Amino acid sequence: MDSAALFRAAPAQGAPSEQWRDPALAAPRRPGTSRPIILFGGLTACHDALIAAALAGLGYRAQALPCADHAALQCGKEFGNRGQCNPTYFTVGNLLRTLFALRDEQGLSPAAIIDRYVFVTVSACGPCRFGTYTTEYRKALRDAGFAGFRVIGIRQEEGAEQIGADAPLRLDARFYLTGLACVIAGDVLNGLAYRIRPYERVPGATDAAVARSLVILRDALARRRGILRALRRCRREFAAIAVDRLRVKPKVALIGEFWAMTTEGDGNYRLQHFLEAEGAEVVIEPLTAWVLYDIWCVENDTRRRMLLPRRDSERHPSDSAAPLRTLFLARLAARLVRAAFALAARAIGLRHCPLPDMAELADASNDFYPTELRGGEGHLEVGKLITAARNHKVDLVVSVKPFGCMPSSSVSDGIQALVTARLPEANFLPIETSGDGATNAYSRVQMALFKARARAEATFARTLAQAGLTPAQAADRLANRPRLARALSDPPPVTAVTAGNLVRTLT
Ligand code: SF4
Repeated sequence: MDSAALFRAAPAQGAPSEQWRDPALAAPRRPGTSRPIILFGGLTACHDALIAAALAGLGYRAQALPCADHAALQCGKEFGNRGQCNPTYFTVGNLLRTLFALRDEQGLSPAAIIDRYVFVTVSACGPCRFGTYTTEYRKALRDAGFAGFRVIGIRQEEGAEQIGADAPLRLDARFYLTGLACVIAGDVLNGLAYRIRPYERVPGATDAAVARSLVILRDALARRRGILRALRRCRREFAAIAVDRLRVKPKVALIGEFWAMTTEGDGNYRLQHFLEAEGAEVVIEPLTAWVLYDIWCVENDTRRRMLLPRRDSERHPSDSAAPLRTLFLARLAARLVRAAFALAARAIGLRHCPLPDMAELADASNDFYPTELRGGEGHLEVGKLITAARNHKVDLVVSVKPFGCMPSSSVSDGIQALVTARLPEANFLPIETSGDGATNAYSRVQMALFKARARAEATFARTLAQAGLTPAQAADRLANRPRLARALSDPPPVTAVTAGNLVRTLT
């Protein structure tokens, strides 16, 4: 439509305009069809596998999508609107490629696919493009020949968008608690693997332990058996791995936009794998931290609303009706989540892995980025960089953000420049992930790693000097204390360098 036609289509001033509606929301499943198969994905491979098993345990038929790759991005761009941030393209392209395979390889008609499958994802009301994701998915599905395919967004704020009596999900306490158990179990499993893999003596031993652990955990979730007991069984799989923690490796924190830092595929150039291959120890963000951030938002907003004049509080009657109760429940929820995480970490043998302190992150970022600004990671990215620099627990912070991401770009390119100017000890690298240009991103990471490696070696040399040891003497001492050469005996993280922390333990 040309611009003149657009103006002709606009309603005359004062004339009633028709509200645009997302048609898929009102499209019920055809009567007589069986319960649909739930497609989902977008987290780490471990989380997706655990969620699929847990959904089976809850009586659903579920299938995790493969990790989104470059082909998914191209497919998403072909059918998606222009100008989206790239998690939209990766996600819907990944979904479409799965549906195309059902159509072309299994011979299902589009009508049968629409009847038998639904896509479940997390959504929000914004304020960035995240608020439009489910609509964008439906548009791409329609253009690809799957008009009416159901996309169910579980809203971070208030539950699911699913409509109608045939809604395929039962969103009760059991559903959410099971989801939380999967998030925590996936976090501790991933966290342990990233701690051990860089130091394993036999390449592949950690990944093999992860694979065996997933079998154990999936079985427990599918049969609705105790997840802590399953985690304790996983611990044995990791305990047998031989490690050499005297290898000096820079520690690199991977932060940024939620999807970009979480995916393990082309969406972030497989940076976790690349960093490890380049000799780094990668510190990933636990997804549980996002749960804590959501709770922190409720608590913080409630406290601020309590300070509003009475006439303003009328705008939020549900929030202001019982703010003390809301505060109590939010604090209780945060404590319970932390306690559950600590139990899971202990069960699998993950030590020294505290969840981030939300109050500390908010305080740290407040001078640079107001905590009221939401969208993307909100103030978290700023808080994480500042606390990482102050606490000297990592040698490099890499922040990944999708091309076209509004909040992350303004934070990384704007605010973090000020943070690094005021905190010169912060070694920070923002990476924008367009899907293309991996070589460029890798070379920038390698340059930042050069500095991080020099910093790690200096820290290690300083620790050796303080302990009065040479590298050979440290190795001798380690040989006499075989317990410290086991995968689960992680030394307390006094410095950023694991080898230096081990030397301190040896003295
Ligand atoms: S945070 Fe960025 S990438 Fe994520 S939905 Fe919002 S604009 Fe898109």
